[in-house]
Amino acid sequence: MGREFMFRIPEGEEFVSWIENFARENGIRTAQVMAIGSLRNATLGYFHEDEGVYERFEVEDTRELVSAIGNISLKDGEPMLHIHVSLGSRDGSLVGGHLFRGEVFVAEVYVREMEESLHRERIGNLHLWRA
Ligand code: ZN
Repeated sequence: MGREFMFRIPEGEEFVSWIENFARENGIRTAQVMAIGSLRNATLGYFHEDEGVYERFEVEDTRELVSAIGNISLKDGEPMLHIHVSLGSRDGSLVGGHLFRGEVFVAEVYVREMEESLHRERIGNLHLWRA
């Protein structure tokens, strides 16, 4: 295990790129990531296995970030965040998927660094961990 970090992302920042920048600036190569909070206008994805592509869909307005769980590993030598989210509506219903981007209203993030580095490589249309 490496270092642990807990931080809040400022309102208005883009969630995915902010964490990737944080990783780059702090020399984090591989880590587990968790977060809760609230996101606006998120773009999620669902991987369509037969077609081998991500179908993207927009989740408009502000949603509870009920949970976000993911990881950081190296893609082409740079830290890449891979994270899945559950987003909650006023009535408690959830939508979820692979997070491409989302604007932060509130984000409380926990990052646990790993000493060993994981690398991604392109396999078909996906960038997966090297076996
Ligand atoms: Zn994913």
